[in-house]
Amino acid sequence: TPVQAAEKTYTIGTDVTYPPFEFANKSNQYIGIDMDLMNAVAKIEGFKVNIKPLGFNAAVQSLESGQIDGVIAGMTITPERQAKFDFSTPYYKTGVIMAVAKNSDITSLSQLRGKRVALKTGTAGATYANSLKDKYGFTTVTFDDSNNMYQDVTTGNSVACFEDQPVMQYGIQQGLGLKIATKPANNGYYGFAVKKNANQALLKKFNAGFKKLKANGTYDKIVKKYVGANS
Ligand code: GLN
Repeated sequence: TPVQAAEKTYTIGTDVTYPPFEFANKSNQYIGIDMDLMNAVAKIEGFKVNIKPLGFNAAVQSLESGQIDGVIAGMTITPERQAKFDFSTPYYKTGVIMAVAKNSDITSLSQLRGKRVALKTGTAGATYANSLKDKYGFTTVTFDDSNNMYQDVTTGNSVACFEDQPVMQYGIQQGLGLKIATKPANNGYYGFAVKKNANQALLKKFNAGFKKLKANGTYDKIVKKYVGANS
């Protein structure tokens, strides 16, 4: 009898919690747009994934040092990152917004002077905020995950944070005590990443799988499951 080749397993790093893209459900399973997409791609392309919720910055660092095979974590495709990583076909539109406490009267960057702002280490939001820091005269404090960053704002330690628009929009719908204060900036797209010039086979499989899932409606179904018609 012919022996079937065992499916290859890839180790994929992700954020600890970044709804609606990755988060744990009540039975502690990892779900969300990124997780469902990754699992669907693996299934259709015939490979297995070992998902590691490392946190965003740690996942990106682990990918750069070659400890993991790929990252899917609501990761924005940026020119700086493209020097270190190869990205898949873009799959979701994003942009950076400033969020403030629900009852805050801050509506613009110019109201941040002398105030403290919460950022998430290694993110596009942090890069954007750091580029405005001198001009608008605010100080920053950094956190490794989004929840702790949000909490610093809801408790009043910081007056604002910078987050991706689709993530903040979802969080607000889920009852996060924050509101969006600015229009999306540095707009771009999320992509699945592998280390530059390494793991081209995995990248090819991801793109091939994504193409099929787009064509057969599975991708749109996944998105609708989490964000309804709001995408
Ligand atoms: N999209 C943002 C980035 O790529 C944030 C990602 C995240 O926090 N998981 O930097």
